[in-house]
Amino acid sequence: MEIAVLKKIWLSPPHMGGNEEVYVKEAFDTNWIAPLGPNVQNFERAIEDYIKNDIHTACLSSGTAAIHLALELLGVSQGDEVICQSFTFAASANPITYLGASPVFVDSERETWNISPDLLEEAIKDRLAKGKKPKAIIAVHLYGMPYKVNEIRAISEKYDIPVIEDSAEALGSIYNGQKCGSFGELAILSFNGNKIITTSGGGALLTRDESLKERAIFLATQARDNAPHYQHSNIGYNYRMSNVLAGIGRGQMEVLPKRVLARRNNFSFYKENLAGISEIEFIDEPKGSYSNRWLTCILTPSFEFRERIRIALEEENIESRPLWKPMHLQPIFEGGTHYANGVSEDLFNRGLCLPSGSSMIQEDLERICDIIKNLHK
Ligand SMILES: *Cc1c(COP(=O)(O)O)cnc(C)c1O
Repeated sequence: MEIAVLKKIWLSPPHMGGNEEVYVKEAFDTNWIAPLGPNVQNFERAIEDYIKNDIHTACLSSGTAAIHLALELLGVSQGDEVICQSFTFAASANPITYLGASPVFVDSERETWNISPDLLEEAIKDRLAKGKKPKAIIAVHLYGMPYKVNEIRAISEKYDIPVIEDSAEALGSIYNGQKCGSFGELAILSFNGNKIITTSGGGALLTRDESLKERAIFLATQARDNAPHYQHSNIGYNYRMSNVLAGIGRGQMEVLPKRVLARRNNFSFYKENLAGISEIEFIDEPKGSYSNRWLTCILTPSFEFRERIRIALEEENIESRPLWKPMHLQPIFEGGTHYANGVSEDLFNRGLCLPSGSSMIQEDLERICDIIKNLHK
C-alpha cells in the first residue's frame, strides 16, 4: 500500500532568485575560489547601497563572528560586563563569553518584544552603583521588528555606552524611514540558511566609521602586520567570507525587496485568515516601524493551547517553533546577572512561529490556517 506523504512545509527555507549561480560560476571561471575577491566586494557594495546612511560593510563567515568582532572593537575583554537583550537567539550573547566577559541580560517590553528601555536604564544604574560600567549594549530587532531605537539611543548617549545593533533577523526592516543595520555604533547581519536572504552561511559587520571597518577586516584576516613576512602583534581570526558564497549573496540582494514583500504578505494572510479566532494574537507595528516579518509569530492564551497547535502542525508535516527561550532562563547562563520583568518568559510560554518562507504558496498558507481553525472548532 502506498502511503501519501504530505508535502513538508519548513519554517524558513532558503529561496534562491536565479542569478546566484551566475555569480558563483563567475568565481569558478576566474578561479577566485578563496576568501575575499570580486564577489565579496560586490556583495558588500550591494549591502551598502541598500542600507545607505554612509554605512561601511565587512562580509564575514557568520553573524556570530560579526558580534564577536564588534565586541572586540569596542574593547570588551576579560572581566567586563556587556548588556544583552535576553529575548533572543543564543548567538547574540555567546560571543560575550568568548572574550571572558559576562552578559547582563535585560528583559523586553510588550510593544516590540525587544529590550525594554525602562529596564535597560534601571540595569545600567544598578551596575554603575555596583561599580561596574557595562562596556556595550546588544539590542536586537527580533523577528524583524525594530527595537525602540530612539529610546535605546538616548540611554546609550546619556550613559555613554555604545550599542551593537543585532540586525540578523531584520535586513529590510525600517525605523522612522531609516533601514535597520544603520543605527548602532556597530551593527551585524546574518546570512544563515534560515534568514530572509542567505549565502548558506555568512554574516556582515556594518559601521559608519570606516576605521572600525578596516580594523574589523584586519582582525578577521589573522591580524597580519604590514610586513613582507608573516608578522603578528595582535591575536587574529579567520572570519572573512568566501568569494564563492558571496556570489550567492550578490544574487540574493537582487531579490531582497521581493523577499520582504513575500514575508509581509505571509503575515497579512495569517492575520486575516485567523482573525475569527479571538484567542490568537499578532504583534502590530508601532507607528514609524516597518518589519520585514522574517517570521510570523502568534500568541496564544496558554502553553497548552500553543502546544496543541504546534503538535497538530507537526503531525501534518509542518514545521513551527516556539518563540526564542530567553537567555536568562537558559541552563548555560543560569545564575547569571539579569533584570527580568516576566515579559519574555510569558512570550516564550505562549508564542509560536509559523512557517514564513518567502517561497510559500497560497495553498500552503491555507493548509496551515485550516489546521489551526479545525483545532479551534
Ligand atoms: C541568526 C542570528 C544570529 C547569528 O547569526 P549566524 O550567521 O547564524 O552566526 C545572531 N543573532 C540573531 C538574533 C540571530 O537570529
